[in-house]
Amino acid sequence: MKQFIVVGLGRFGLSVTKTLLSMGYEVLAIDKDPKKVQECASFATDVYRAEATDEKTLLELGVHNMDHAIVAIGDDLQANILATIQLKNLGVKTITAKAVSDLHHKVLEKLGVDHIIHPERDTGVRVAHQITSQHLIEFLEVAPEYSLVEIYAPPSMCGKSLKQLKMRASYGCNIIAIRTKDNQMNISPTADDQISHGDILVIIGSNKGIAHLEKRYVRTKEMLK
Ligand code: ATP
Repeated sequence: MKQFIVVGLGRFGLSVTKTLLSMGYEVLAIDKDPKKVQECASFATDVYRAEATDEKTLLELGVHNMDHAIVAIGDDLQANILATIQLKNLGVKTITAKAVSDLHHKVLEKLGVDHIIHPERDTGVRVAHQITSQHLIEFLEVAPEYSLVEIYAPPSMCGKSLKQLKMRASYGCNIIAIRTKDNQMNISPTADDQISHGDILVIIGSNKGIAHLEKRYVRTKEMLK
């Protein structure tokens, strides 16, 4: 089973730790602050007070055997970068690190970090999309400028086939899956498949195309009743 190390037990690091543990993964969690270690120890067993920038300490903790590290230090940029370098040098296979600015993102990119995340920014984007669209269930940025959204099928799409909707030609978006009311998943819909009331559509496309589509189908007065 994959082994994770979470470095920094602020709100984000604690949440990642809790979730991984609830999914059944083994997690080693470290923080230099004894209060944070104590908080985490209430639900995790492998929690240590440790300085994440210190190579010797990391070696003693067996960090080199970990498959995936999550660097969840935010405020202390130097500690975030040094811990990332140490983890990489010790041979951790995959690293996910939190970035607090675009410049920080670029530095982590240069260090070869596999996944760079901006939790506050990403949550802000998702919340803004969710609160402005009644029909949006999920919004996920999959690459800069490209997203995956899950929406309740707007009534004006119902009864139409994918061919008739011309999503690709008009909006540069693809409906990649349709979930029906009775939870049947059509994961490769064809041009002749029709949208029905109660369907949930999984759509991928450029942010521009999705916004255009939302304006056309989702934010009409009819939808906001
Ligand atoms: P959040 O928003 O997730 O609460 P944050 O962005 O405020 O977190 P910080 O408080 O800077 O992030 O860092 C998260 C945790 O990382 C803190 O609990 C802090 O003690 C720990 N931390 C910071 N530097 C180090 C370090 N060098 N070694 C170990 N832990 C560290």
